[in-house]
Amino acid sequence: MIVGPLDKPVQFLKGVGPRRAEHLQRMGILTARDLLHHVPRRYDDASTITPVALAQVGMDVTVAGEVRSKGIVPTRSGLRIFQAVIRDDSGLITCAWPGQTWVERNVRKGDRILVTGPVRHFHGRQIQPREYVILARASDAAPAGPPSATHTTHTTPPISPSPSPPSPSAPPSPGTIFATYPASEELPQWIFRRLFELNLDTLIGQVAREEYLAAPERDALGLMELSAALRDLHRPPSLARVETARRRLAFDELFFLALMQASVRHRATRERPGIAFARTNRLIRALHGTLPFALTGAQTAVLREIYTDMTSGRRMNRMLQGDVGCGKTVVALFAMLLAVEGGCQAALMAPTEILAEQHASGIRRLLGDLPVELETLLGSVTGRRRDRARARVAGGEAHLVVGTHALIQEGVEFATLGLAVVDEQHRFGVRQRLALAERDPRPDTLLMSATPIPRSLAMTLHGELDLSTIDELPPGRLEVTTRLAGPGERPAVLREVCRHLDRGRQAYLVYPAIEESERADLLAAEAEFERLRREELAGRRVALMHGRMKGGEQDRIMRAFQAGELDVLVATTVIEVGIDVPNATVMVIENAERFGLSQLHQLRGRVGRGTEGGLCVVISAGSADDAGPDETSGRPATDRPAARRPLAAADRPAATGPRPATDRLEVFVRTADGFEIAAADLAIRGQGDFFGAEQHGHSADLRFADIVKHEDLIRPARDRARSLIDADPQLSDARHQLVRAHLERRYADRVKLFGVG
Ligand code: ADP
Ligand code: MG
Repeated sequence: MIVGPLDKPVQFLKGVGPRRAEHLQRMGILTARDLLHHVPRRYDDASTITPVALAQVGMDVTVAGEVRSKGIVPTRSGLRIFQAVIRDDSGLITCAWPGQTWVERNVRKGDRILVTGPVRHFHGRQIQPREYVILARASDAAPAGPPSATHTTHTTPPISPSPSPPSPSAPPSPGTIFATYPASEELPQWIFRRLFELNLDTLIGQVAREEYLAAPERDALGLMELSAALRDLHRPPSLARVETARRRLAFDELFFLALMQASVRHRATRERPGIAFARTNRLIRALHGTLPFALTGAQTAVLREIYTDMTSGRRMNRMLQGDVGCGKTVVALFAMLLAVEGGCQAALMAPTEILAEQHASGIRRLLGDLPVELETLLGSVTGRRRDRARARVAGGEAHLVVGTHALIQEGVEFATLGLAVVDEQHRFGVRQRLALAERDPRPDTLLMSATPIPRSLAMTLHGELDLSTIDELPPGRLEVTTRLAGPGERPAVLREVCRHLDRGRQAYLVYPAIEESERADLLAAEAEFERLRREELAGRRVALMHGRMKGGEQDRIMRAFQAGELDVLVATTVIEVGIDVPNATVMVIENAERFGLSQLHQLRGRVGRGTEGGLCVVISAGSADDAGPDETSGRPATDRPAARRPLAAADRPAATGPRPATDRLEVFVRTADGFEIAAADLAIRGQGDFFGAEQHGHSADLRFADIVKHEDLIRPARDRARSLIDADPQLSDARHQLVRAHLERRYADRVKLFGVG
């Protein structure tokens, strides 16, 4: 790795002695580079700063001024309040920190200070700061000029046009930006500001030597130079420039993430040859002939991408995403037949037995009389039957193998596996997917997902995969009517459910929690099950299903429901998995504000699969007649599944989200388009949830990049990364050494893992 001046320990910086170095280290700032990347967490400019004379009771203000006096005031109730009087050119105001007497030690008379908080009435106007920042210490006050404004060239104070220099407490001039750093008790604001005054110019000069993007490339993407970006983040001439600077750093994050992924992709698909399947059309044409429907345009387009991959000498590593019911299984079947035509076997792995069985019977039906042998491998099948199935797979008599995790168990051998398809891919861990695909010869892989996500997000999360999207449903799909209801409407909703039952239809009632004790404000499946059985649903065949039940028990109940032996399934989100019960026409989702939009969409996909459409009613405490107390604290139940977590926990929606749930629910009611829902989910929840839920932990990699705001940078970053790795997989060319050094710094541990270099 190239070690430059920026990699030196912080002790070598001006203004850093052994003690400060220790404190910096405690904040994770070990090198000069770390300090440079310790960027402000917020900015205030003159336009957001209120002259103290204009601060009125009820307002929430930020003021800047000089501390004229301070002291601790006791109250009759025994509370001690720290107070400071602040002055700017417009006047004086008191700031009060009730119960926070320790602030007294941090704030000195003569300090320049920035304060944010509500203005209250208490013996006159008073600000109660939520936050305060020491802009400059009384001792190191500059003789003139606005209070240590970040854009002033700190070495040469600005020349004042007025004959007499403005007082130190002058309100900030327009354009002045105050930067606020993440600070600690030992290292308050003013120390960071001081450190950057002393060192920024030198550090920026050093960064300039690490620029890896040539001017024409930067211009094409509308990016500023790296050194200029870092300078502007610390000393922005305007708030707009902060955004421009962040954009540059966002690109770097996206690019190096994409570079990592391109390197993984290279190793998975390029390093060793894959199977180049010959397309004889022997089976594919026959299936086209017997298929009871015509493929949609989207299915055809996606198949073309898959065939191109499979017939090439490179290995396929593709993700196929499309909404529930868009027809991914048929696409997978065609791909599997291409493998079989080429003399190989193909496997389809699904997360549950019921799904695997559904796939097997659906595929058998579509295959009709075609000379293709299908075998299933399921965990529940043991003994002789299992041995016989395994023998047919190992001997090559079985062309298609459909199953669950049983496919990757010890003792399962394939004669020649040419294509591995993984349905509901996010329900499997990376290791499980590899277990199916990492063998000799190296099969092509197709990962399927019925949880659509915006393309920008997919490219960022799964940059190592190629992406195919089915964005069209087969014609003639029946609508699912969706309605939002308040808890007060519950009796009417249940009467409606009963009308469906009276017609011989079936219903799902979905709850966010299993037991009542989990959350007092949530309806729990267990208790509601008992109650409904006695009351509204007395005499109906009702069953309870949740994730704390054993898998076998869940399967048994699901099968009974599928067979029509049950009228109503009271359940948690375990039914989310792609169950197909055409006779189920109505679903009620309780405490809907607790679920993620994509999860609601998945749930809704369970109804309306038959011949008469469906109804989905979402009941939310935050809607209609009943404004719930904490609708904003309803963080969507994570869309990630049970595979990596205990089932009981997966059933239970987690805590707190940033926006009122009703916003999200309205989107859900308005549209049935999974991609539109996913885009809204991303816009409302932000990318954090999506990244946090991924096992890669990408969230830490993206401090500046925002998938929505910087969407236009995602594809250029990925394309550039891919062509670079295609041309120089090890980044060994002399011209790529700067890029390589950046990559190694960012992904020190993983670069070794993935064997770059
Ligand atoms: P998903 O993408 O959710 O896995 P499926 O593959 O299960 O969807 O397809 C849902 C249903 O639509 C199946 O019954 C399938 O046979 C049917 N289907 C698939 N493609 C078409 C099409 N082009 N036209 C009509 N029906 C189709
Ligand atoms: Mg499917």
